Amino acid sequence: MLFGATGDLANRKLYPSLYRLYKKGKITERFAVVGVARRQLSNEEFQNSVKESILTYIGENVEIDEFISHFYYHSHDVTDAASYRELKTLAEGLDTTYNLDGNRLFYMAMAPEFFGTIAESLKSEGLTDTDGYKRLVIEKPFGHNFESAQELNRRIRTAFAEDEIYRIDHYLGKEMVQNIEVIRFANALFEPLWNNRYISNIQVTSSETLGVEERGRYYEKSGALRDMVQNHMLQMVALLAMEPPIRLNTDEIRSEKVRVLRSFRTMKVEDVKDYFVRGQYDNGMVDGVEVPAYRNEQMVAPDSNTETYVAGKLMIDNFRWAGVPFYIRTGKRMAAKSTKIVVQFKDIPMNLYYNTKETLNPNLLVIHIQPEEGVTLHLNAKKSGQSMTTTPVRLNFSNKSVDRMNTPEAYEKLLYDSMRGDATNFTHWDEVALSWKFVDTISEAWENAKEESFPNYASGSMGPQSSEDLLQKDGHTWWPIEEFDVDNC
Ligand code: NAD
Repeated sequence: MLFGATGDLANRKLYPSLYRLYKKGKITERFAVVGVARRQLSNEEFQNSVKESILTYIGENVEIDEFISHFYYHSHDVTDAASYRELKTLAEGLDTTYNLDGNRLFYMAMAPEFFGTIAESLKSEGLTDTDGYKRLVIEKPFGHNFESAQELNRRIRTAFAEDEIYRIDHYLGKEMVQNIEVIRFANALFEPLWNNRYISNIQVTSSETLGVEERGRYYEKSGALRDMVQNHMLQMVALLAMEPPIRLNTDEIRSEKVRVLRSFRTMKVEDVKDYFVRGQYDNGMVDGVEVPAYRNEQMVAPDSNTETYVAGKLMIDNFRWAGVPFYIRTGKRMAAKSTKIVVQFKDIPMNLYYNTKETLNPNLLVIHIQPEEGVTLHLNAKKSGQSMTTTPVRLNFSNKSVDRMNTPEAYEKLLYDSMRGDATNFTHWDEVALSWKFVDTISEAWENAKEESFPNYASGSMGPQSSEDLLQKDGHTWWPIEEFDVDNC
């Protein structure tokens, strides 16, 4: 049952993902999708719109009529109890038609202010009262601070147990994010070095070239900190920093991630400035096109104090990571669209090649998350010729060049996992709670003090100067991720 069936997320991601799963045989004939949204539509109109989105986003329609015949529509106002009772009758009929054993997956792909009401109504009107499993898949944002997240959690927990709740973080569905675990735990080469004796610092960048587009109203209240850092960025740090779990199952992985989040050095509000900086984009050029400043975007206040860029230093105060900064940065309207992790190893104790006047480059392990997916190892090798000079070389593995086909979309994986009941790549309440508590201190510092320098970075740049300064204080610099593209290697 998909709440928000006429929305952008459903059309762009969910229908194409379901279709791919169907075509791969991962969904059998025993399924039905009930689209729920406000608009009045017949089943046929709904099926046609699903077909259209598949054609638009996948560009093919093999077996499509068979696929869309499983789609039903229910026009619904989420606050109207009678409407849930109709939905219940529809669901029970489909249970029989498709032999579904009463298994129900409720997907909330609509504005978050409705999540609590829907969950409570599903329970009070008897939709969660079923012989099969019942699961709730819930989109971000999960609250806008710790307090509101806690209240939302309390409401959805009235209808669903924690192990029935699948909180989506679509970064966790990405192939290469899941690959962090494999790179770390399946290679004798890395895990012994994965600590403060050998690693100098770790940099996680997630940059976008797009601006706020038509999401100004939402973004004004959220900003990059809540939109990206609280969830995706902290999740990536947790995966990079966690201890090897005793088993690769949901509970063990989650509990190791929770331990990382608990080890983050907490900041006092007045110390936030030493660890986090913010930016807001000015006008500029992106891909050769002139683009406006954030403050001139639709539904954005002309004196907006909202950050469109965040850079920060996270210290993880445990035995493995003491002294190793984890730098994160994320922003809109940056020079490149890219998500990458750079693990910088410490310099070797002695440079035997100093007399060649070459400074040795540090070894780097670069994990490319998107748009390309892969891993690059930066080493030093001998330059061919007579002298003993060194030259940097890159060993490169690219997922796409191996598979020669697109890797599965994050939503496809997450939908599949939620159907199979595998919650590993969804966030547990404990993770959400700890992340919000960490981020709330930063929000408080920033809400108390207007940033006078806004706008402070040109569109098409890699962010404000303060972000460079943050690393320079520690003797580090951001690695130029735009030069690390797999294609350039
Ligand atoms: P949208 O505005 O495009 O769609 C909202 C849907 O909710 C529509 O189907 C609308 O009919 C329905 N709706 C609104 N009010 C209703 C009511 N009172 N009763 C019944 N139905 C109602 O939103 P979207 O972009 O698809 O986003 C949905 C959710 O997914 C949000 O929580 C968003 O933060 C999250 N999300 C979206 C994207 C994305 O790419 N669009 C990415 C990540 C997360």
